[in-house]
Order: sequence, then C-alpha cells, then structure tokens
Amino acid sequence: MLADKDRIFTNLYGMLDRSLAGARARGHWDGTAGIIAKGRQHVIDEVKTSGLRGRGGAGFPTGLKWSFMPKQSDGRPHYLVVNADESEPGTCKDREIMRHEPHTLVEGCLIAGFAMGANTGYIYIRGEYIREREALQTAIDEAYEAGLLGPDAAGSGWDFDLYLSHGAGAYICGEETALLESLEGKKGMPRLKPPFPANTGLWGCPTTVNNVESIAVVPTILRRGAGWFANIGRQNNAGTKLFAISGHVNHPCVVEEAMSIPLKDLLEKHCGGVRGGWKNLKAVIPGGSSVPCLPAPLCDECIMDFDWLREQRSGLGTAAVIVMDQSTDIIKAIWRLSKFYKHESCGQCTPCREGTGWMMRVMDRLVRGEAEIEEIDMLLDVTKQVEGHTICALGDAAAWPIQGLIRHFRDEIEDRIRKAGGARRPVAAE
Ligand code: SF4
Repeated sequence: MLADKDRIFTNLYGMLDRSLAGARARGHWDGTAGIIAKGRQHVIDEVKTSGLRGRGGAGFPTGLKWSFMPKQSDGRPHYLVVNADESEPGTCKDREIMRHEPHTLVEGCLIAGFAMGANTGYIYIRGEYIREREALQTAIDEAYEAGLLGPDAAGSGWDFDLYLSHGAGAYICGEETALLESLEGKKGMPRLKPPFPANTGLWGCPTTVNNVESIAVVPTILRRGAGWFANIGRQNNAGTKLFAISGHVNHPCVVEEAMSIPLKDLLEKHCGGVRGGWKNLKAVIPGGSSVPCLPAPLCDECIMDFDWLREQRSGLGTAAVIVMDQSTDIIKAIWRLSKFYKHESCGQCTPCREGTGWMMRVMDRLVRGEAEIEEIDMLLDVTKQVEGHTICALGDAAAWPIQGLIRHFRDEIEDRIRKAGGARRPVAAE
C-alpha cells in the first residue's frame, strides 16, 4: 500500500486550499527554475529513468515520447498539448487533478513544455467539465499573475504560455489526432498516422500530446528523483497511479495508490470491498470500458499494472475499475458499451462505422437470447475484423469488451439463447 509520504496528490479530495498559496504550501512550484536550469536533456533523462508510462491508456513511456520531438526547431514552433478530454466510461481521475490539484498540472506543463522545446501549451478539456475548466483557468490566471507563466516563466529564462481550450463533448476528441483537429477548429476526426504528431501535429508543427496525470506527476518526480518513482510498483510498471473505482463496491472512489497493487487490496482497503463480499464478485473491467473484462477467478490474483493485465489479455488502460457483482447482467452491460461506441464512432472508416452498429445489433439480440448459438462465433469473427483495421483505436475499443465477454462468459450467452427458446423465431412463424 502506498505510504502517505509518497503521495503526489495530497489534495485529491479537495479538503485543502487549491489556490496557488495552498499548492505552494504543499510543495508545488518549489524550485521549478532550478529544475529547468538543469537542462532539457536532464529533464527527459529523469523522466525516462523514472519509468513513467503514459497515464491516458496506452502506457507508452513518457520520456521516450518527449525525446521524439526534434532537438532543434526548423523554424516551426513546438507545441505541448495536454489531453484532458477524459471521456472513457468509468474514468474520472483527471477531473480530480483539475479541480483540486490544478497547479500540479500547470507546473507540469511548464516543465514538459521546456523539455520538448515548446513555448506554448494547450490543455484541451472535455466539454462536460465546466467546474474543472473554471478551477484550471483560475490556476492558470494565478500562475500568470505570479510570473510562473508567460515571459521568463517562474524565473527560469524560458517563455511559456498556456491556454485552456474547451471541447464540445465528443468522445472521439480524446483520440490525440482528433483532438488536434478539434483544437484547430475543425471537426474532431482522427488523422491517419504517419505522419506522427511529433513531426506534424498541431497546425503542422511538432507536437506532443500527453495525458493530464502524466504531466501532473512530472514536477514531483523531478523534485524527489527518478529513483524514488521507479522504486514504487513492479519492474516496468513504476510509480504511483490514480485508480478510479466504480460500480458494485461499498465506497466508490478515486485513490492514488502504488502501481501493481493487487486488485483485492485496492477494493478492500479503499472501497469497503465488493458489495455483498468478495465471493459476490462476478467480473471487473480493470481499465476503463474499452478493455476486456476479467471474471472473478482471475480477479483473485489480479495485479493492477500494465504488464500483468496485458498477460491476461486485458489492460490497465486508464485504471478505471468497473466492478460488477453477481446481480449484473453482464451481457447487457457489454451491450451498453457497444451502444456507446457505436454512438461515438466518427464514421470515417468502414470497419468501425459499419462494424460498431453491426456488433451492437447482435449484442442487442444476445441480451434477449434471440439469436443462434453459431452467431456467437460470427460476432467474435466480426470483432477480429474490426480490431486493428481502423484509423484509430475506437475500433479496438468497441471490439475488446465483446471479445472479453465471449472469452469468459460464453456459457452465460449460450444459456440465455437456450432459455429463450433457442434461436430467432423461424421466418414462417413471424
Ligand atoms: Fe472514426 Fe472509428 Fe475510424 Fe476511429 S476507428 S477514425 S472513430 S470511424
């Protein structure tokens, strides 16, 4: 369990002062100029050594991502873009940073911007996050007034401007290139890659897009040392992590814990356990709605980190844990996710546009048991045709929950079909 002294987000629940004065009292904005004085390469190397992996879902090493930015400008400006479009169902961790710990993010933007040679940063915040936008804008304004942003930001000699841009509430704008399109004032549709944003991003300029949590933890890593962060969690799964636990637990919450904490500890120590006890657990979606679920027997030994969950053909994703007890109709729960992804598909590529609707309609019949047993494999086959064959990861996100359902709960689907009388009614009988 994470010791209090190792917590980065000491005001996660908003019980303390979130203003600049309060943030400073908790150690933020301490020695920022000194960190920057050590140079761009030092910052990137420290972030690499810390083992920080992106907190937005993909888990790509953050320092490595920064190192993809050109070392020298070819005349084009560099941009830092922070993805605050937190829209994955079940995921609500970044909002706690933005409304209660906004200065961790603002300070992180300055340091990250410096590390990638960017004098300008944009934070793209989800349309529904009104109060979070207000809190963050207040923090940005405070930082400007105190000389922590703008020319010679925080006395570092680096000029840095930070802008907050408010989205209109489309899930797909959380995909990094759709986010860039939206920032440019266009419809939020993912771009084909390559070219990658590090070369051709915002307005055709070198850009790095990072998640809120990934940026907000950087100042503390640099103050406390990469070794401190790297020593928390298992090898290759370093650091502290915000977990957002919802569903059938006694006390749903967002909590900062050590990476690699066993799922059972996470639920029992912070959430009052599963509703009705651990034996009442049916399944967990461990990383936001897009990753395959884990059935209860696997949850017994589940370790909450990138590698363990990938070995189980699931994922840590955003570390949003959706807990389902025995009362859950899991076929219906996954159908609901299918409906969500169908609704959010931008429609640009055929496998996603057609496939999400097709999968949702079959799932709809499976919920009622009005299907043929053979259609389960047909559905699985369609998920495989969508997975990996689309411009962005929404296709995968729509396919994986269904794959997890079929992998672990095929019996339940078959039972329902049998109980509903087998197949669809014969055409002649209709
Ligand atoms: Fe749009 Fe779906 Fe294609 Fe992504 S996968 S670009 S959401 S149609």
